Amino acid sequence: MTASSALLESAVDQLATLPGIGRRTAMRLALDLLRREPHDVARFTEAIRRMRDELRRCEVCCNVSDEPRCAICSDPRRDAGLICVVEDIRDVLAIEATRQYHGLYHVLGGVISPMEGIGPDDLNTAELLDRTANGAAREVVLALGGTLEGDTTAFYLNKRLADRNVLVTTIARGISVGANLDQADEVTLGRSIADRKPYEQSIKR
Ligand SMILES: [Zn+2]
Repeated sequence: MTASSALLESAVDQLATLPGIGRRTAMRLALDLLRREPHDVARFTEAIRRMRDELRRCEVCCNVSDEPRCAICSDPRRDAGLICVVEDIRDVLAIEATRQYHGLYHVLGGVISPMEGIGPDDLNTAELLDRTANGAAREVVLALGGTLEGDTTAFYLNKRLADRNVLVTTIARGISVGANLDQADEVTLGRSIADRKPYEQSIKR
């Protein structure tokens, strides 16, 4: 597909870099933007620019945030003694959608994957160990999905948390093996959180 305009072509190239957007769809989106009023398009690009430039990482849970501390961490109604460890922000959204969990989160930013060269130090593991050092947390829930990498990460974290005075639990395996958390339906995921088990029990089975 060659456009008669290099500017249009360049916009299509950029849109087509987004996941799930092929060149045909990218062209449709570009033409739609072209038909809009300039101030309308400015609002669109400004929202993306501000998200990219101004979004920061919550100093407590490493989730995305507009403030130094995110809305979940600063909510006094949440149970601060309970920390649910997840791979990324999509898992936070999935668990929040179940309305079954009222503690805080810790976003690792990935899982340990020797194949991809991702070790514990590439993730927000030090922040988690810091958070659990002062005795404020009584339970850490490992909610890392049923993949080999998720299991490896859970095993590592359980070992590192052993000298902390916290109960380490894991979500019940209503989540199928090999699945990511955000692929589970809300009922299944909600039940998995509610029926969590001590981590040591889960690996002995
Ligand atoms: Zn936070």
